[in-house]
Amino acid sequence: MGSNRIALAVETVFDELDEHITNTTSKTGMKCSSLCNLCCSTTHIEASPIEFIPLAKWLYEQGMVDDFLVRLEKSEKTGHCPLFLPEAWMEGKGGCLHYEKRGLVCRLFGFGYRLDREGIAELVTCKVMKKDIPEAVGRANRLGVEKPDALPIFRNYSMQLYSIDPDLAVRQLPINKAIRIAIEKLYFQYTADIDIFEQNNAD
Ligand code: SF4
Ligand code: SF4
Repeated sequence: MGSNRIALAVETVFDELDEHITNTTSKTGMKCSSLCNLCCSTTHIEASPIEFIPLAKWLYEQGMVDDFLVRLEKSEKTGHCPLFLPEAWMEGKGGCLHYEKRGLVCRLFGFGYRLDREGIAELVTCKVMKKDIPEAVGRANRLGVEKPDALPIFRNYSMQLYSIDPDLAVRQLPINKAIRIAIEKLYFQYTADIDIFEQNNAD
């Protein structure tokens, strides 16, 4: 499958996931605590490259890849996600540089469910929400038992991404590495497009 089609297919999966998360949060009241950035600020986030193909495509289209690679190089030294913006978070502006282009792990963290051995959906949430909004967490836990349909279940989305491109979806890597692979995957496609464009203009 070509890179554009991969990006489109991943975005379709993310749209469905966002709907499932909104469906859950509207019923339970689950939400991130104000100005919390705990999950984005750690240095051990893992993701698969396919999760960031939409980000990579968008960066190429905006002509922002070179600047982003400088940022990525710095974050590779610290282990932080290259999209993490601690200063903006402190000012209440959100702390992800390109929030709309975040990965699967970012969308599911705190709000996702896993299936236990009997196929019952169990919420996997964070310690912040457990402490700050225990009633909402209780409702979300009950939803897993009472209404398992249309819940954001980790496995469903991982399998969908795997079916789009197994090579890009199978490995969980440090987030910096996953993003770098996604950018490299699209490199030839976009540089080839530029070559063709320049050639056409020269003719
Ligand atoms: S998922 Fe939890 S740790 Fe992450 S930002 Fe939300 S409240 Fe904070
Ligand atoms: S991509 Fe954005 S949401 Fe995901 S870990 Fe990085 S800063 Fe957080």
